[in-house]
Amino acid sequence: MPNDPLRADLCSFLTAHEAELIAFRRDMHAHPELGYHEHRATRRIALRLAAAGLRPMILPKGTGLIADIGDNSDGSPLVALRADLDALPLSDEKQVSYRSTVPNACHACGHDVHTTIVLGAGLFLAQQAAAGRLPGRVRLIFQPAEEVAGGALGRDGRGRHRLGGPHLRPALRPAPGRRKGRGAQRPYHRRL
Ligand SMILES: [Zn+2]
Repeated sequence: MPNDPLRADLCSFLTAHEAELIAFRRDMHAHPELGYHEHRATRRIALRLAAAGLRPMILPKGTGLIADIGDNSDGSPLVALRADLDALPLSDEKQVSYRSTVPNACHACGHDVHTTIVLGAGLFLAQQAAAGRLPGRVRLIFQPAEEVAGGALGRDGRGRHRLGGPHLRPALRPAPGRRKGRGAQRPYHRRL
């Protein structure tokens, strides 16, 4: 639909932000933080969302944050987008420029990708809201400590907005040239 204004806005946004989002994801990948230690990621996301005109709120334990976009005081829907921030206690065996710089910590589960996707979506939606083109409200949730089963808490620690659900473990695949079996597998990881 070449005349779809939303699509045109999205294409324009992606052209303008592609390099920034790839750099953000690679920086997060290079600086993984385990559950409830996601201070660096929390700070960077909060600063970026604030620069986009949003008002992020850091969760009570100091890592993780929430930011709302738009207004649903007219009864229109509230939709939440959730990402997770923490890394796994694994060593990063890749040989890439953005390899983990932290011993025994690695974004082998893709939380760096999840976070970048929700950050990018949030920045785009903030633009749409500022232009009066966002019906309803969207809540961005950057959840801490997803891997240690303690981070799926409400924003105020009193059970409100509790989140839960199945977790996809990193898929394992045989390392090239090795047979399946113990020690012959490594976390699947794709480049972004
Ligand atoms: Zn995970």
